[in-house]
Amino acid sequence: MHFGKRSGIFGACECSRTGGSTLGEIRIFNLPTEHKEQEIRIYYNTLFRAWGRQHWWPARSPFEVVVGAYLTQNTAWTNVEKAMVNLRQTRVLSVAGIRRIPLRTLQRLIRPAGYFRQKARRLKLFVKFLDHRYAGSLARMFAQPTTALREELLALNGIGPETADSILLYAGNHPVFVVDAYTRRVLGRHQILPEDSSYEQVRELFEGGLASVAESATDFPPHEQRRQTTGGSAHPPSTMSTTKRSSLVQVYNEMHGLIVGVGKNYCRKSQARCDQCPLREFLPSR
Ligand code: SF4
Repeated sequence: MHFGKRSGIFGACECSRTGGSTLGEIRIFNLPTEHKEQEIRIYYNTLFRAWGRQHWWPARSPFEVVVGAYLTQNTAWTNVEKAMVNLRQTRVLSVAGIRRIPLRTLQRLIRPAGYFRQKARRLKLFVKFLDHRYAGSLARMFAQPTTALREELLALNGIGPETADSILLYAGNHPVFVVDAYTRRVLGRHQILPEDSSYEQVRELFEGGLASVAESATDFPPHEQRRQTTGGSAHPPSTMSTTKRSSLVQVYNEMHGLIVGVGKNYCRKSQARCDQCPLREFLPSR
């Protein structure tokens, strides 16, 4: 059994780590919440030290984040970028633009992002909702309390928890952590939570774990970006990524980007490249 640098954390815990056996897994998944939260903090610090700021979300305005959050469903970001370029070149990457553009034209412009008929319809629906409920103002919408607004977004066609939380966090600076498949995979492989845990369970764990990181985090130079030859999922600094926000929102923002970096580069579905991953020393057994 190998605890890496964390042996002190689990030293006082009766739930000793015996990774590999079923019994070990049951014990590990049943670690007390405070130990799981501690683990999340350690992962954040390790990844942030390694890769620095990730500059999510690559966008020039909150509405671009909203559009990107819809378009990125079930497709790679590179395809979203092509659709965004089309929208920008046609000068419709705005609430007014999506409102006025005919549905057929919108479908054609966002075609590179896949599921373009469905996504075009949903974008139109979002603008309708915004017009009806907030007189077309994103600022008014984001001025709502987080929980109430989250429920409203979740009630919209085509918005699940990941999309709702991406909009809340990256466009509206609301303190919600975004959970994706990479997050679940890392937790499952590290035997912190089973991979099929509910979205809310995972979100709660990360929000609980990262709250105290945010209390002590003060150092987020707005344009800082470390040179990365491998790993990470950093974007170049953008208007949205350098917006001033609370430490808590910034830490949630960074952690999601860092986890995407782990998932994309190392913790792949078919093959985990643990030997090169910054989180390798935290595996329950090697
Ligand atoms: S690649 Fe290996 S070390 Fe990295 S997060 Fe996945 S399971 Fe952990």
